[in-house]
Amino acid sequence: MRAVRVPEHGGADVLTVVDLDPPTIGPDQLLVRTAAAGVNYIDTYQRDGIYPIPTPFTLGLEGAGEVLQVGAEVSGFAVGDTVAWKQAAGSYAEQVAVPAAEAVPVPAGVSAENAAAVMLQGLTAHYLATSTYPIQQGDWAVVHAGAGGVGLLLTEIIKKRGGHVLATTSTPEKAELARGAGADEVATYEDFAAKAKELTEGKGVAAVYDGVGKTTFDESLSALAIRGYMVLYGGASGQVPPLDPQRLNSGGGLFLTRPSLPHYTRDRAELLSRTNELMSWIADGSLTIRIGHRYDLADAGQAHKDLQGRHTTGKLLLTV
Ligand code: NDP
Repeated sequence: MRAVRVPEHGGADVLTVVDLDPPTIGPDQLLVRTAAAGVNYIDTYQRDGIYPIPTPFTLGLEGAGEVLQVGAEVSGFAVGDTVAWKQAAGSYAEQVAVPAAEAVPVPAGVSAENAAAVMLQGLTAHYLATSTYPIQQGDWAVVHAGAGGVGLLLTEIIKKRGGHVLATTSTPEKAELARGAGADEVATYEDFAAKAKELTEGKGVAAVYDGVGKTTFDESLSALAIRGYMVLYGGASGQVPPLDPQRLNSGGGLFLTRPSLPHYTRDRAELLSRTNELMSWIADGSLTIRIGHRYDLADAGQAHKDLQGRHTTGKLLLTV
């Protein structure tokens, strides 16, 4: 089978397609033929060695496909089922050993491609808007990188809950896309804090969802209302330097949190309840998945360059 390997840590050019034997599954795993694998920022951190995984290894975490084999101790899945997952190491490959605890059933009415597209970024958008700071009817929130993979889905979910979105983007084309997902207003990274105040009669927004990090964090604090929520969930522009807690006091008793998906999928019940809700929204047409680009497995390096170079919108998939 074809697989994308990281022979040594480095830039996007280290990614190499090789021919490997399909994985041998353990008793608690499924062997799945991949239909699509998701490309995510975390893959670039694993490729670079920021998250150090011993080399060589097959890259990728997210995907969906058809079950080919079921491990001896697995119940609830059968050969031929379509499943999706957010975390199975080695997902940039034609076949993947998926821990059964990570596999979720893909219902009729949801394509394998859309299921693959929603596992990591969709679950993230779901927990951010429903649990980290649960959007209330009428709330204003800033969504940074509003045309990105998480940003578009987060905007849609905030709108579903009756909130208002001020999205940031770097180009007019991306601004248009963010509006298409439901953003009420779009700002640049330079003027979003002023615009947030303007839209809320000087009060500021209830929450800022910030996956950009280093370049947006400080202004994001200035955009918040008294007792607003600073939800820092990523660092596409780099990591935020240490912070003096007094800044939260002078900002108006602000709350700061730095969540990750595992904190909000603590057990199988939580994983399934979030996934089932997302899948039901896709099936009934109330959540739109925007695939920005599909790449062949052999072009995974180009996908990483495009993602890190700010050239992409929505979800990036490797079709297998
Ligand atoms: P995106 O599709 O949002 O891509 C990143 C976007 O960030 C770019 O398109 C760009 O949009 C914007 N950006 C602003 N400044 C920079 C910069 N200096 N370099 C690169 N991009 C920049 O990616 P994802 O949706 O996959 O991920 C968004 C963030 O969410 C990442 O930080 C990721 O690590 C994080 N994440 C966190 C999770 C969690 O649970 N904590 C889970 C999943 C993702 P524009 O050109 O419009 O500025």
